[in-house]
Amino acid sequence: MKDISTTEQLDNPTVVSGLMEITTDAPDAEPVLLSVRDVSHYYGNRIGCRNISLDLWPGEVLGIVGESGSGKSTLLNLLAGRFPPAAGTIHYRDGEGILHDVNKLPEAVRRRLLRTEWGFVYQNPRDGLRMRVSAGGNIGERLMACGSRHYGNIRGTALDWLSKVEIAGDRVDDHPTAYSGGMQQRLQIARNLVSSPRLIFMDEPTGGLDVSVQAKLLDLLRQLVRQFNLSVVLVTHDLVVARLLAHRLIVMRRGEVVEAGLSDQVLDDPHHAYTQLLVSSILQG
Ligand code: ADP
Ligand code: MG
Repeated sequence: MKDISTTEQLDNPTVVSGLMEITTDAPDAEPVLLSVRDVSHYYGNRIGCRNISLDLWPGEVLGIVGESGSGKSTLLNLLAGRFPPAAGTIHYRDGEGILHDVNKLPEAVRRRLLRTEWGFVYQNPRDGLRMRVSAGGNIGERLMACGSRHYGNIRGTALDWLSKVEIAGDRVDDHPTAYSGGMQQRLQIARNLVSSPRLIFMDEPTGGLDVSVQAKLLDLLRQLVRQFNLSVVLVTHDLVVARLLAHRLIVMRRGEVVEAGLSDQVLDDPHHAYTQLLVSSILQG
């Protein structure tokens, strides 16, 4: 595929022909949002992940599943441009239809994407929140980064988002340290979603929570994904979470993809022995 620079437009015929190659499996005419080809990452001699290819279309939730250490977080961080892959390419189509090579982004463009078009929800809300800033400030900060300046509007939107994630408005001036784990995670989600990101990365978003709190958060995530037609790359070791949230799954083992397909297909009729083992251990567990 031709290398596509950050400035070329989609109406450039060369680029369009490049795109055709990576959208041949598209379920409809909608252009691919994220396209990953043969990416690998190593930690010294250890494999982080190897030869991974995937596509994500708008409105789609792609689950990355596999046991601990299988390379899920490494792949997610690669996709989010956190570090460059040792090999392979990652292309992202922005809101204006421009296709970017994620690893050749000028720093200013990368930062703009991070502020406006992407979200990242961490397992530990402390990694995604500013703990010394009020809940309203956590949401407002992201809005201001996207250009909002009017205090009243910002506060109004923050209150609106608190209610969307089921946090009472009278907690708006509390710091996240005064919140429970589940509330912190919901606040982190609100902070991410307030700017209407086009693509959200999530790493075990329900992972650190008590089971009953997990179930509630999962319900909320499902509802938000539907309501806002979110495009998500979701890492989880929990197949229940994967089934409930993801349209498609890739199953990783030792840094490689061993199986991929529609979530129900992969979970109800797993072909690879490792997926069968994963699924059966859930059934027994
Ligand atoms: P998962 O998210 O599926 O648990 P990771 O992507 O964190 O898996 O890890 C994949 C592999 O890379 C594992 O063997 C892990 O030990 C290794 N790894 C992850 N992070 C580092 C790091 N910072 N330094 C060295 N090895 C790492
Ligand atoms: Mg991980």
